[in-house]
Order: sequence, then C-alpha cells, then structure tokens
Amino acid sequence: MRKGLELPRRTLILLLCIALVPLIDVLTGDAWAGDNRAEEREAMVTEQIVARGVKDPVTLAAMREVPRHKFVPLLQTFYAYNDRPLPIGHGQTISQPFIVAYMTEVIQPGPGKKILEIGTGSGYQAAILAATGAEVYTIEIIPALAKATAKRLQDLGYGDVKTKEADGYYGWAEHAPFDAIIVTAATEFVPPPLIEQLKDQGLMIVPVGSPFFVQTLMLVQKRGETTTSANLMPVRFVPFRRAE
Ligand code: SAH
Repeated sequence: MRKGLELPRRTLILLLCIALVPLIDVLTGDAWAGDNRAEEREAMVTEQIVARGVKDPVTLAAMREVPRHKFVPLLQTFYAYNDRPLPIGHGQTISQPFIVAYMTEVIQPGPGKKILEIGTGSGYQAAILAATGAEVYTIEIIPALAKATAKRLQDLGYGDVKTKEADGYYGWAEHAPFDAIIVTAATEFVPPPLIEQLKDQGLMIVPVGSPFFVQTLMLVQKRGETTTSANLMPVRFVPFRRAE
C-alpha cells in the first residue's frame, strides 16, 4: 500500500516543479519576450530616450543591445525597462534609462576612446559604454558590489571592462589619461585627481551638489591648464562616498 503511494507523490512533486517554471518566468519578467526582452528595450529607446532628444546612433544602438534586466536584482527584473531608477542593493541605485543614455551621448564614447567610470554599481553603465566599442575602466567603492558586478560583467560577455575596488576619488592613474570620465555618484566638488587624469580636450560628466538634494549634472572640459564647465540639468544621484 505504502509503496503504491510513493510513485504518484514523486510524480506530483515533479509536476509541481514543472508548473513553477512559467511562474518564475512571469515573476522575473522573462515571459513576454523569452529571455531577451528586445521589444521592451525598443519601446524604452523610443518612448523614454529618443522622445527626450537623445540622437547619437552609437548610444541608441548600445541602449537597444544591452539587456538591462540582467543588471538588476531578481525582484526588480519585472521593472527593468520602466522609466525610473531601481534599487540594486547596498542602498545604491541603477540610474533611469534616459539618464544613462544622456550621459553616454554627452561623453561621445566609441572605438578608440578610453573611458573611466566612477561608481560601477550594477555594471549597466559600464556595459553600455563597452557596447559602443570604447575601452572601459570602472571603479566601485563597496566591496560586495565590486565583486558581484565584476563577475556579472564577465558572465554577460563584457569581460573586457576593467574593474577595480577602490575610492574613485583618486581615479586610476596607471591607465590615465582618459578621453572621458563619467561619475555616477553625487559629489560636492569635482575631485582634482579626476581632472588631472583627463586628456587635453577630454570631457567629464558629473553630478555636483549636496547629497540627498537635487544636484546639477555638469559637463567639464579640460583645456590645457584650465577647465570649462556647463550645467546640463538637475538630477538626483546617490552620494559619492569616501574611503575611511
Ligand atoms: N553606474 C551605476 C550606478 C551606480 S550608483 C550603474 O550603472 O548601475 C553609484 C555607485 O557609486 C554606487 O554603487 C556607489 O557605491 C558608488 N560610489 C560612491 N562613491 C564612490 C567612490 N568614491 N568611488 C567609487 N564608487 C563610488
């Protein structure tokens, strides 16, 4: 009698597991377009990015290509293509798609360009820069994020991106000078080492202002011994931290 029940119970458990697969798919947002979600990315580019004035074809191609949903935590994957920033753990966030595209367009990445990012976070911005053909260096101060993201970039085919766990205030002197520097955390002033590590005519995009308030996205250009700067738009970024 007992033996007779064993098989149906196992079969039942097996069937239950199989039934759970589509449920997990729905929860992680993979159900609509398989594992790729290219249609949602296309809508993101058209409705959130092109509609707000980003035109650079290199930037738009990268935004269409990089699977944003693979850079956010499992519980956020459903919202990956929404018009907003998302939490990525450790109190940090991945920027809204439009902001990523806008900052990318401004620094003009592409083949032959060497770019430094401060604030690796999820690795999404770094992957976008890499997808333009640029040589990308990125620094993250939170050890757990730095480690997890280095692995993610490797696993997703962005293994050429050079990652480092450090305080980005000091830049990455061994690889300087850079054609462009992109800072993705809000700083009260532009760190002087970063200006030093820019090439002549190099561009830096950086949110400047008090943490926890609205900051100004600034474009800084190095011109010989001087720099010029322009205010681009109000933004909100997580604070730039300093190593203790
Ligand atoms: N570019 C990221 C956004 C990350 S949010 C992405 O695409 O997901 C900002 C990141 O900057 C956080 O991960 C934070 O830990 C990091 N950060 C803050 N201060 C830093 C510093 N001094 N050096 C390096 N990273 C820093």
